[in-house]
Amino acid sequence: MSDGAHTSYEPQAIETRRQAAWRERDAFRTPAIAEEQPHRYIKPSAPFTSGNVHIGHVRSYSIGDAYARFWRARGDAVLFAFGFDAFGLPAELGAIAGGESPSDWVSRCANHMTSQLDRLGFSFDWERSFMSSDPIMYRWSQWLFLVLLDAGLVYRGTGNVDWCDTCQTTLATIQVENGLCWRCHNPVRLVQRPEWHLRVSAYVQENDRRLDELENWDENSLASQRFVLGRVDGVEVDLPAPDDGTLTVFTPHADALELARFVLISPKHPEIDTWAAEKGVRDRVEELRSSGIERSSRDAEAIPVIDTGHSVSAPVGGDPLPVLISPLVDGRYGVTAVFGIPEADSTDEMIAERLSAGASGRTAPSAAQAPASDHPPRASAARPAVRYRADDFSISRQRSWGTPIPIVHCEACGAVPVPHEQLPVLLPLDIKPTGTGNPLAESREFVETTCPRCDGPARRETDTLDCHFDALWLWVPACVPAEARGEALNDIFALRDLRHWLACERVVAGSDSGNFVFDQRIITKALRDLGHLTFLADGEPFAGCLFHEMVISDGRKMSKHLGNVVDPDTLVERYGADTVRLAVLYAARPQRALNWSDSAVLRCHRFLTQVWEYCHAQLAIAEELADGGPPGADGLAGQPARDTTEHLRLRLGKWCETAVEKVTEEMEGLEMHSAVRNVMRLFDRIKDFEKRVVARQGALGRSDSDALIEALGLLVQMLGPLAPHLAEELWIAFGNEEHAAQTPWPGVSFQVPA
Ligand SMILES: [Zn+2]
Ligand SMILES: [Zn+2]
Repeated sequence: MSDGAHTSYEPQAIETRRQAAWRERDAFRTPAIAEEQPHRYIKPSAPFTSGNVHIGHVRSYSIGDAYARFWRARGDAVLFAFGFDAFGLPAELGAIAGGESPSDWVSRCANHMTSQLDRLGFSFDWERSFMSSDPIMYRWSQWLFLVLLDAGLVYRGTGNVDWCDTCQTTLATIQVENGLCWRCHNPVRLVQRPEWHLRVSAYVQENDRRLDELENWDENSLASQRFVLGRVDGVEVDLPAPDDGTLTVFTPHADALELARFVLISPKHPEIDTWAAEKGVRDRVEELRSSGIERSSRDAEAIPVIDTGHSVSAPVGGDPLPVLISPLVDGRYGVTAVFGIPEADSTDEMIAERLSAGASGRTAPSAAQAPASDHPPRASAARPAVRYRADDFSISRQRSWGTPIPIVHCEACGAVPVPHEQLPVLLPLDIKPTGTGNPLAESREFVETTCPRCDGPARRETDTLDCHFDALWLWVPACVPAEARGEALNDIFALRDLRHWLACERVVAGSDSGNFVFDQRIITKALRDLGHLTFLADGEPFAGCLFHEMVISDGRKMSKHLGNVVDPDTLVERYGADTVRLAVLYAARPQRALNWSDSAVLRCHRFLTQVWEYCHAQLAIAEELADGGPPGADGLAGQPARDTTEHLRLRLGKWCETAVEKVTEEMEGLEMHSAVRNVMRLFDRIKDFEKRVVARQGALGRSDSDALIEALGLLVQMLGPLAPHLAEELWIAFGNEEHAAQTPWPGVSFQVPA
């Protein structure tokens, strides 16, 4: 082992060799179900087929991969597979830019990204990988749509969309630049059109209630769920409304009820028609609904406030309160009615000022006015209440690269669901979006069909599902072996694999995944109640969750425009995959933004180089000692006259035990940044041990060398999940066999060689 060829650290050669060995022995194949073996499904995020793996992906998958390898090393069965979220706008824009079909674009990007991920040595089970744009996959999205439609959880509503008259197409928000079309730079109009909506509101309360039961969720991921929920605690009061009705009005300011000056109702409030009965008011509400609430919502002062002309009794006596309608409710409290209390809320204060300015021809009573005592309060007592900002949202898009919505429009029967046995409704692959029109609607072959109900001529729905809808489901396919994915959709839930691997033990994803995860939790509860995921009694798909922050540069988001993008390929080429992976783990704890600097890469590269060279040097010494070496004073080969270093060996043993204990705990808790530091510290202590022994007795004795090799072996085992190529190569150099899946994790107890 002492020949020079093995002692210099050459990551490219090592990594090529290890990756070939992993492929050869199929190291990361999902193990067959064995009930007695502990098992866990670790879910990485499914990226868009954007074209390139960026350094943020590297961070995400390095954390997930270290965690997966750690549990394999502990002897667990691990499911760790990967898929692409391949539908949607990024692919469509990429295809337009490249003048190709989106399907060609995504398969080209997926191939490239897969080879980048492979070069980094991530231990995905590629047999279980998937593309959301494969018919066998989007068939599941279509099935999910139909099942939710049948249950009333998907419904037809209206939405406002940006529309370009020149390009004859709807635009996504990011395609509208300062009110102009990204493509032709003409002004964009907001138009109202029918859209399919997902009724998340049905499960918002349960998503809230279950939050307390989520144990292995880190603070980032829990915070994201609370943010999406937008829970507001307060009180509600029933007020008498016209025609003997009541209006339930909410406020978070329970102690300021007597300061209420008006009542504000959301335009989407279910009883809005009662309050907007007069023609003038009704017209203005209609105008409000169709004139871009979303677009102007950033500027609260510009959002319309409509005076209904009605009043209601104040909750605790005093002048009646004017009733106003405005979307200024929704963004703060969801679809509801609230008290306007200018003294307690700055938005309410702004509304009161606008009222006083006479915009409505009526002034809000001011706090200085004496309460009118001849109006006894008829309101109910205030009772505790909760409101949520989380609300139903549109799931349909007017785009050609998406899952076709399995609906047929028939003149006689209306909107008819496609029968399950006719799924999937195939998306034509020869469509080339250009940025104008709707290519799917222009494809006669796609559009013209017969009605499943009356056999008459009918037209297919030409909206597609937003890729957010596909994502509702993307935590499931990895659990289904590729050969079972074509089975009848109802039968998928009876699959032993699915029941075995779910719930997912840990999701590792970027902190911008809060909405996805929230909605995936909603859908799980819906499918449980519909009898499909009954084995997930709490309706929670993920037992644990880690949300990491992004990688930034110079304190700013990386972008081509700023010229501060870090290219993982260049780094891997120069330093090797192990260094890049170790550096992103080392540089920051997952919950913090990683502000990129090359110093972490240099530090980690130096560390790995030293570990490599030091291990080989010590192996050479051990070999010499074993071969007889220079005899000690007592004539025994490799043994000094007197054993004066036993206490040092004992101390090394303690260090090793402490390190294993700590690093084990840190790996379990996904604190890889600390784990890397503790492994580095142990390396320093091992070198320190050698230095002290040599200072004391001139050279290592055989027991010292044995202890040192033992300690290095343990260090290499702990590096297994963190720098897997180098670790396995050293593990073999130490005389061990390749392990089927992963170098085993060390036990805490360290045997000090006598
Ligand atoms: Zn345009
Ligand atoms: Zn029909």
